[in-house]
Amino acid sequence: MSDKIIVIGAGATGSFITHDLASRGFDVTVIEKGNIIGGTSGKFHGMLHSGARYAMNDVKAAQESIIDNKVISEIASFCIENTGGLFVALNDQDLSFQSKFENGCKQSNIPIESINVESALKEEPFLNNSVKAVYRVPDKVINSFRFITSLLLTAKRESAKIILNTEVVDFIKEGNNIKGVKIKNNNTGETSELKADLVVNASGAWASKLIDEKLGIKSIEMILSAGTMAVINRRFTKHIINRLREPSDGDIVVPFFNDSIIGTTAFIVDDPQKFDIDKEDISFLQKAGSEMLPILANYPVSRHYAGVRPLIAVGENDDSRKASRDFKIFDHSVTDNVNGMISIVGGKLSTARIMAKEIGDFIGNKLGNKTESKTDKIKLYWPQVNSENIDEMAKSLSLDKNFLSEMLNESAGKTYSDMYSNAMDLLYSRRLFK
Ligand SMILES: Cc1cc2nc3c(=O)[nH]c(=O)nc-3n(C[C@H](O)[C@H](O)[C@H](O)COP(=O)(O)OP(=O)(O)OC[C@H]3O[C@@H](n4cnc5c(N)ncnc54)[C@H](O)[C@@H]3O)c2cc1C
Repeated sequence: MSDKIIVIGAGATGSFITHDLASRGFDVTVIEKGNIIGGTSGKFHGMLHSGARYAMNDVKAAQESIIDNKVISEIASFCIENTGGLFVALNDQDLSFQSKFENGCKQSNIPIESINVESALKEEPFLNNSVKAVYRVPDKVINSFRFITSLLLTAKRESAKIILNTEVVDFIKEGNNIKGVKIKNNNTGETSELKADLVVNASGAWASKLIDEKLGIKSIEMILSAGTMAVINRRFTKHIINRLREPSDGDIVVPFFNDSIIGTTAFIVDDPQKFDIDKEDISFLQKAGSEMLPILANYPVSRHYAGVRPLIAVGENDDSRKASRDFKIFDHSVTDNVNGMISIVGGKLSTARIMAKEIGDFIGNKLGNKTESKTDKIKLYWPQVNSENIDEMAKSLSLDKNFLSEMLNESAGKTYSDMYSNAMDLLYSRRLFK
């Protein structure tokens, strides 16, 4: 019988781990306390990074990003818009970063192209016309709802069990050994226990608090770095527009469907769910975004949201802008003398596959399963429904055919939040993951 593994958290990290482990033949169950993209994976910029944003000060993150920029586009093309990205210098200070940017991208194997200002302005007429230098980079937009739903659908076909709206509230302990989890269904309040050979804590910004409170484990030190994004309900560019400078506040505008998402800020929070968004940050973001695209100043911010980066704390440095976007695996039998539990912390949505592969290799070695990860080759399952196959597809998924076509062919032109809540209603009303 294969080893039984429980994964806590179905964000990008936990969902990719579930797919990776299930495809290696493990018996996996993922438990998510909320809905799909209820955590940081639904409250981000929406970029499948080229890595160029990190090339100046985080080469490992930059190198991993460009590798998976290609892999994710191949295995999950249905959730990617190949917008491309531009890095723009607006003043002499921005220009002073040119050689650092070029060298960092070269070192990280990120293909960039310097383009002349006139052709950039032809391609993007709303760009500030006093722009001084422009680079093209392979940034893309990713729809995380489709991405994570397809990861879970793929894992489900590989026999993984998906349990949503259910929280891990405690652990089953026998001495120093973790033998499973205690769970609470957040819809009904019902509690139960699930046994496992190994528990993987992939709960993102909640990772350190969960095991500190329930097990007294203090080995994971994190920086919970929140970032606010302001959304204007109009799209003005084909490309993602980045400011040419080291990562800082208000340096990205992402065209997402028909919206423009302006990001972001960085402020430390204690609790990933309880913090206030400073209203001044929203006007700051609009002002900073309109330095790159002046037209943004003419439209109202229609909504805003904030997510929390689950960053690893390294040394005394609590400047979350400088903190690495790297990730780390904690084997608690080594760090805390607690057997049967592993945590993974850090990273980015764009590198979730690489994180899953590394922890999958680690678990495989630990449990004696030498199967290699195949997730760079497995196309994620996203049924392409048409009038010819809809009956068969609906039958194979035990779904109503009208629901299926509505959910899978949801049209562009809706805002991210509309699309998300419609799809969630549909998912739950028809119990796709039951
Ligand atoms: C402002 C901002 C912008 C960003 N922009 C980008 C970007 O453009 N591109 C990019 O690649 N990355 C970006 N990131 C980073 C990226 O969003 C995160 O690194 C990634 O989404 C984290 O995924 P995760 O699965 O680790 O965490 P999450 O998505 O938060 O998933 C963790 C899950 O665990 C669940 N959970 C917690 N506790 C429990 C429990 N007790 N029981 C059951 N479930 C539990 C939570 O509900 C949550 O769904 C951005 C981050 C921020 C904050």
